[in-house]
Amino acid sequence: MKDSKGRTIDYMRISITDRCNLRCQYCMPEDVPSMSHEEVLRFEEILRLCRLAGQLGIRKFKVTGGEPLVRKGALSFLKDLKALPFTEQVTLTTNGILLKDIVPELKSIGIDGINVSLDTLRKDTFQQITRRDYLPQVLDGIFASQEAGIKTKINSVLMHGINDGEFFDLIHLARDYQVDVRFIEIMPIGYGSKYQGYNREKLLALLSEHYPYYTQELSTRGNGPASYIHIPGFKGCIGFIDAIHGKFCSSCNRVRLTSDGILKLCLYYQNGVSLRELLRSGASDEELLSVMQKAVERKPTEHQFHQSAQEGQPELRQMSQIGG
Ligand code: SAM
Ligand code: SF4
Repeated sequence: MKDSKGRTIDYMRISITDRCNLRCQYCMPEDVPSMSHEEVLRFEEILRLCRLAGQLGIRKFKVTGGEPLVRKGALSFLKDLKALPFTEQVTLTTNGILLKDIVPELKSIGIDGINVSLDTLRKDTFQQITRRDYLPQVLDGIFASQEAGIKTKINSVLMHGINDGEFFDLIHLARDYQVDVRFIEIMPIGYGSKYQGYNREKLLALLSEHYPYYTQELSTRGNGPASYIHIPGFKGCIGFIDAIHGKFCSSCNRVRLTSDGILKLCLYYQNGVSLRELLRSGASDEELLSVMQKAVERKPTEHQFHQSAQEGQPELRQMSQIGG
């Protein structure tokens, strides 16, 4: 469907849990209370909302978290989501720890792509960033996914003084394996505001010292705002997602559903529409559709991350509670 600014909204990120088996410093604190099971939408509730979203024109779903694979039943949910009448694409964003063993099942349900977050290839830095020690499992998950022929992307957040020395090691994954490596500019949401990040411009300046002959990659490689380059001899592409410096709000195609049933129209703003109470108080499909449609129409024009005096009501939740 179109929102009031004429943007086509056809993509929804669904967070199926706020729980996670990592504790990335920029995403969540060590001690974080999880939502109770009652607060979190049941899979059948999420599927009902996705079916209705399909009627509104949402065709592509990204399943995220917290860590989506820690939720029991995540695989059957992905399969059911794929089978909904309007679904064209289901992709997954994961930290990769639990990925390796379920790659064959993901392949057999026809997953359309897997994004794995990986900020470092060093054991000690992995421990420092995530507060856990699972680097080998994450790497095994990435290798298994690309070996199975699943479209696999690595998402990295580079931070000054923490993992920025690994820029070339990370891009070399796209040289040696069939993966795209994308750099996400850190956003000042929750704990992210403590770090200084990198944008496309800075990274391209760095990259061209070693690889001056890259070309812009013009083929469509996803549903999102990433822009890509190709380096001769590399198997995959290098992507950049500049939420702050390369503001892409005018072409934003997405909405988000949090695990407690809030339909969020923009990552920046705290407010959204709570669908859980409606779902649980016996609302009809027509009532839900009408609420969802009105909400999407009112999608904010743009985020205000760049303002020093922030406008509106900025998001106070952590990224793990929203789903990235
Ligand atoms: N646990 C899964 C994972 O790590 O891929 C899915 C959820 S995680 C919140 C989704 C993405 O958000 C990850 O790639 C993570 O690096 C990114 N992220 C978290 N906090 C961020 C921040 N403040 N700025 C930019 N990206 C962030
Ligand atoms: Fe967990 Fe993903 Fe947040 Fe890291 S970025 S703490 S893996 S939800």
